[in-house]
Amino acid sequence: MLYCTGTYLVKPPQRQGTWAVRQGCDLVASELLVNAPDLVVCLDPDLLIEAIGGDAEAFLGLASQELLGRSAIELIHNEDQERVMANMKRFEDGQETYRPELRLLHSDGYSVVVEVVGRRLNRPDGTHFLLVARRQLGLGVRQVADDIGIGILRCDPDGEIHESNAAASVQHGYEGEELSGRIQDLRVQVQGHPEDSVDANLHPALRYLEDAGVSSQVATIVGRDGVSRVISFDGRRVKYREDGTPGIIMLLREVTELHQMQEELYRRSTRDDLTGLLKRSTFIQAAESLLEATVQQSGEQPGGSSLFGVLFCDIDRFKSINERHGHGEADRFLAQISADLAQFGTNTAQLGTNTAQLDTNTEASLSAGGTTSIHLGRIGGDEFALAVQCSNRAEFDRLAAGFRASVQRTALATLHVLVTASVGVAEFDPEVGQTVEELLDEANAVLRLAKGTGRDQILHCDASLRAVRSEQKRLEGVLRAALSAGRIEYALQPVVDPYTGQISGAEALARLRDDNGSLVPAAKWIEVAVSAGLSSAVDAAVVEPVIELLGSLVGRCPRGLPVIGVNLSDTSLARPDLAEWIFSLLERHQVDPGAFLVEVPELVLPVIRERAAEALRQFREKGLWLAVDDFGSGYASFNEVRDLPLNTLKIDRSFLTEQRDSADYIILRTALEMTHALGCRSVAEGVETQAELEIVMDLKVDYVQGYLLARPMPPDDFVRLLLSDRPLAPQRIEHEDG
Ligand code: C2E
Ligand code: CA
Ligand code: CA
Repeated sequence: MLYCTGTYLVKPPQRQGTWAVRQGCDLVASELLVNAPDLVVCLDPDLLIEAIGGDAEAFLGLASQELLGRSAIELIHNEDQERVMANMKRFEDGQETYRPELRLLHSDGYSVVVEVVGRRLNRPDGTHFLLVARRQLGLGVRQVADDIGIGILRCDPDGEIHESNAAASVQHGYEGEELSGRIQDLRVQVQGHPEDSVDANLHPALRYLEDAGVSSQVATIVGRDGVSRVISFDGRRVKYREDGTPGIIMLLREVTELHQMQEELYRRSTRDDLTGLLKRSTFIQAAESLLEATVQQSGEQPGGSSLFGVLFCDIDRFKSINERHGHGEADRFLAQISADLAQFGTNTAQLGTNTAQLDTNTEASLSAGGTTSIHLGRIGGDEFALAVQCSNRAEFDRLAAGFRASVQRTALATLHVLVTASVGVAEFDPEVGQTVEELLDEANAVLRLAKGTGRDQILHCDASLRAVRSEQKRLEGVLRAALSAGRIEYALQPVVDPYTGQISGAEALARLRDDNGSLVPAAKWIEVAVSAGLSSAVDAAVVEPVIELLGSLVGRCPRGLPVIGVNLSDTSLARPDLAEWIFSLLERHQVDPGAFLVEVPELVLPVIRERAAEALRQFREKGLWLAVDDFGSGYASFNEVRDLPLNTLKIDRSFLTEQRDSADYIILRTALEMTHALGCRSVAEGVETQAELEIVMDLKVDYVQGYLLARPMPPDDFVRLLLSDRPLAPQRIEHEDG
């Protein structure tokens, strides 16, 4: 049989050798021994040196004479002694292979790595040993590998480890010979990021045999000492036998720290810094696999009760918390709520686990409520999402209530104020087959509804809401098609001086035609445009033809150009090129800026203050009109209006009244007085009755816009009406505007 030494293969001796010299040669056997470049020793059964030849001086720093009678074991590095003793024992018992590598101690204090080839000599008094020690080739490199902690394993074609250095022993805890046959025992877990499979108990050496060539991977080894170490394995096929049979050399490097660092980076890329909850994209991924698992389970046991739902949780009026308590305080508030949420499940606490299941502690408390698995994400400033698998529909409400209670409790304890929260719930319906993103959308839509109807509540997405949403999706398609085909229309509603009936201008209102040619009410589709991010495209589709129309009217109106207003959404107002864009259009059509009015909804005044104030200032400088739209419907303060360069207030229809002793009347009067005090023009919007008209005229409104005087109309009709110069008189209102 062949056996392996450190660097090459030798045949074990089959029979006694003989001494032979050519005739005439006077070399004697002892001379050969004395001059051998190796160290040759003979040990008695007690392992004491009884004969020695070769270069003892070079190997041990001692003369041969001094070594006679000494224990061979004492000459060996103490870390190697135990192993060598054990080997010698086995060798004595008849084992043929021999672990040949060991370190001899030189008298100068350094160690010399040698490989040893041995033979038993059977004598009447017991087994003696003839050993030849040879300096190990590549000795320096091996030493260095040990010193810098690179483990080396040499495996035979079956993947069995036949040799390992000291550094490798540190990594797995098993010494040399102990290792052979133990490969299956080594608890090796191939570990990486969550996407990688976890393959327990498969030693990489075995895997390397399957693949050709070079292989490397990271695995966790649980050593004999119980310590887990992350080891990077680098395997290479090498010629193991002369017939070309491959073996493997593996280099092992401990990368535990590096791995921890990578884990941390991974954690940061998938988790929110402040709360440690999953970020949006990771949340969706995790929720998607939970949904898949739920669907699969339901398929396996039809009628089984595995439900899946997404909860969209949001803190009411969080912006005001930010403003009143500062960002630091608000952040701590969010962190505390997240910590409470984390109690719902444990995936928040574990690093790098994607299909984080519940640990045993929470499993008990959650299964009481029927939740089997949960993922938590922070998907916006104050927006949290829960993906829940449970067995009981009431569970969604229980978790939503838990979130709301946590918000209230935390706010009272830390901010000393009452803060409420709303939750939208969307449950997976196998008939509909929503994706997680769609469920998140649905949950968000009901959440918006909850916000719009008094906040502080939990709403579920039901069939009727789903129908509304699918209609909105359809309208979004109609709108996109109209925008790209340039088919957005607009109507003009006259703005009238009520004291003379003269038309002073108009408001341009966008119009969308459905596929069947009828007009879609603005109330239905403007919101769709906003949520689809299309509102500035809609604005542009009105602004451009309006300025073109004004251009076509230049020089044709006896009383000068009418003032035509357009509505700008907050996204249009945030356009960096806003002023430039409008100025260039006015210039191109040679329209006096004094004939153009920009309407800004009261609700977006704070946005404007931040982002569009400069554009508005430029507008005013050029002489454009600037109006606050729906004045009174938001909560704009007097200061907010005063600080912006506005010159028109459009009083919201909700303040119109027919009674002079009503609260609305007082507000209306105050609003109009305020308008005049600010030096602005006033427009009463949505005047429908004679009584309303009389009241606003008594309060000295400047202009009136409403069905009573004129409905929104096609631009051509407006131009005809304008050029006729006929004063408008109040009309009967019979049916709704189309
Ligand atoms: P708004 O800016 O307040 O426009 C006035 C709305 O009041 C118009 O509704 C108009 O038809 C309606 N109205 C006029 N007189 C009366 C009346 O006497 N009684 C009643 N009940 N309503 C009256 P419309 O055209 O349906 O537009 C609704 C909203 O859609 C607009 O409210 C505006 O906020 C938005 N919108 C319209 N066009 C555009 C646009 O081009 N861009 C943007 N961003 N928003 C637009
Ligand atoms: Ca308006
Ligand atoms: Ca308005």
